[in-house]
Amino acid sequence: MPKVIDLSETGKSGLVNLGNTCYMNSVIQALRCTMPLTTYLLNSTDGNNMTQFDSSFAKDKKFRLECDPLVNTFLHHWVSLLVGMWEDNSVVRPKTVRTLVGIFHPPFSGSGQQDAHECLTMILDKLDQELKLNVNIKLNEHIQSELDKRLMKSNEAYQSFLNHDGYSVVKKMFYGQFETCCLCLKCKTKKYSYDAFSYLSLSIPDGNSGKTLYDCLTNYIEVEQLVKDNKYSCGKCGHKTKAVKQISLWKLPEILIIQLKRFDVRLNKINKFVHFPLVANLTKYVFHPNSSINAGLAGATKEENPLQINGLQIYNLYAVIEHSGSLIGGHYTSKCKMPDDKWYKFVDSRRPEEITVNQITSKNSYILFYQMHQHSLQQWNKFK
Ligand SMILES: [Zn+2]
Repeated sequence: MPKVIDLSETGKSGLVNLGNTCYMNSVIQALRCTMPLTTYLLNSTDGNNMTQFDSSFAKDKKFRLECDPLVNTFLHHWVSLLVGMWEDNSVVRPKTVRTLVGIFHPPFSGSGQQDAHECLTMILDKLDQELKLNVNIKLNEHIQSELDKRLMKSNEAYQSFLNHDGYSVVKKMFYGQFETCCLCLKCKTKKYSYDAFSYLSLSIPDGNSGKTLYDCLTNYIEVEQLVKDNKYSCGKCGHKTKAVKQISLWKLPEILIIQLKRFDVRLNKINKFVHFPLVANLTKYVFHPNSSINAGLAGATKEENPLQINGLQIYNLYAVIEHSGSLIGGHYTSKCKMPDDKWYKFVDSRRPEEITVNQITSKNSYILFYQMHQHSLQQWNKFK
């Protein structure tokens, strides 16, 4: 008999600390509350808003991934961990996942303090590798304007990235792209390049006044002068020249991970309060593609190009990883929104405590997890 579980009733599960592994526990909590990914891994259907799942089905490994424990070792144990955490309200020992994390990255096998962000990127990379499909994407588009060239170049860069690195549900959900523009001040040539990213690492601007996430983003995309030792090698005029460089967010992913850089170059902790909204409007930080090329890519007419109709880039916060204390004697915890629409604080094996929305932000907030708002997402899926 299938055992169907209502996720709004379950999942308030803690994780045993296996020797300074709070960094890993906080990452597991935030990632397993990334519902599009969890839904994909546990559900046999494509439903995007999973409210329940059949745990015997997932346990039988008959879910659609047909996860082979010998080939997809990490994925197999990750899914078992998800089932363990979601099928009840309990305390789970993430022993095998911990062992594997230590095998993939030996510093994680000891009992020293580690960086949660490093652990997060490692787990995502591992899931990406084990879920990936090889693809061979080719593009044929008609170039019209200068903007078309940039759109074309960004698409080519993204496709060559996928062709080289493989495509997976992790790439689909977590990867965006930024554009770097360098302007040579000698010959005035602009060079555009495009890179994929799976998270944004934002410095916290100096100053005593309270900072917001928007201040950090503004700082991130600020124009940089390439002068003195940092001059630019211009491919056009062939000189080492003074130049200006600007990064823009070209495309944002469905799941946007933001790391607030709380450790400076000397690894001192920056304890500044950064205010971040529950609902973030990132529209003004994102380049708006509005040329015929993108409409063609989406298989849509120009009129249907979603970013022309609705250029809003709205994101909902659903998880935060916090770091309290110093680099040597610190502690990681997480705060996540659960399918019952309530926020909980997770501290290792402790019973998760319900918190109010006013208790989400603190000076310890370190990694933020945002999901693209459903309306933006529908437009986005049409676009992709
Ligand atoms: Zn030049």
